[in-house]
Amino acid sequence: MGLRPNLLTRRVAGVASTTLALLLSTAAVGVVPAASAFSAAPGGACSEPAGSQANARAKPGAGAMHEPNELTAKQVRDRDADLAAALRERANYRAGAGATALATVTIPVVVHVIQETSTRAGGNIPDSMITSQINVLNQAYAGGTGGAATAFAIRLDKINRVTNTSWYPIVEGSSAERSMKSSLRVGGKNTLNIYLGELSDDLLGWATFPQRNLSSMDGVVVLSESLPGGTATNYNQGDTGTHEVGHWLNLYHTFQGGCGGSGDGVSDTPAEASPAYQCPTGRNTCSATGLDPITNFMDYTHDSCMYQFTTGQASRMLTAWNAYRAA
Ligand SMILES: [Zn+2]
Repeated sequence: MGLRPNLLTRRVAGVASTTLALLLSTAAVGVVPAASAFSAAPGGACSEPAGSQANARAKPGAGAMHEPNELTAKQVRDRDADLAAALRERANYRAGAGATALATVTIPVVVHVIQETSTRAGGNIPDSMITSQINVLNQAYAGGTGGAATAFAIRLDKINRVTNTSWYPIVEGSSAERSMKSSLRVGGKNTLNIYLGELSDDLLGWATFPQRNLSSMDGVVVLSESLPGGTATNYNQGDTGTHEVGHWLNLYHTFQGGCGGSGDGVSDTPAEASPAYQCPTGRNTCSATGLDPITNFMDYTHDSCMYQFTTGQASRMLTAWNAYRAA
């Protein structure tokens, strides 16, 4: 998902690193400052190690610039081909069609709270914020806020509190991030590991896309103060978590591909030329039918503006689950 207010330009700088990450078949959410030691050079060259990618959400103002997490057409084709191959390998593959009728997938979740100190400013958020976040996820994925119901329910198995100054803030694409995840990640491909903390470069979060071979980088990183009741103004109702988990379940941004091509690979999210910020009701950036899906969890609008997934997204997520994450 994205960046916190006033930091859009940084998000834009992260596009290049996203490019490589996606080639490596992970999602790229990262928004990395151009000056960062680990950021990529414009054009796609990148020294960033495999596996450190994410998908971000940004604030108003970034729209005029490059898309940080937009995949190239080739990257989309490559991922689609990989998905098809993964599905063929699955003897027990169930078609994604009809996903909403199969609301039976429970995702075990382990939340790692990364702290610098025992203070709130040091990352020590209360359990109540985490349980509220889990409730937000369950509401969103059940269609309880107005969107389509998906196949997924979220089950919080454990809260793991870790005080480690070398992992704080969590720096997207850093060796420290790899160290943190290698040390902490638990479970199989079906287990959602969520890392909470202060994030580098004012990011709201990032996530990995599913892939055939489980990576220690697999999981979702979310700004702790974006959880319900947090201090991230306009982004503190828990929808960063919802957005990042969407990527973890193989969803692209609604503005993927702009107005042309296959877009986000979902037929019932109208094409959108660029990310929407805040809550621009009536926005219509493409000539194709339908207003921009600004209320979709996979756009970049404020938490108060986004409240739904579509049936097509639900189907896409279940297909990917069966291909990549199901036992
Ligand atoms: Zn995103």
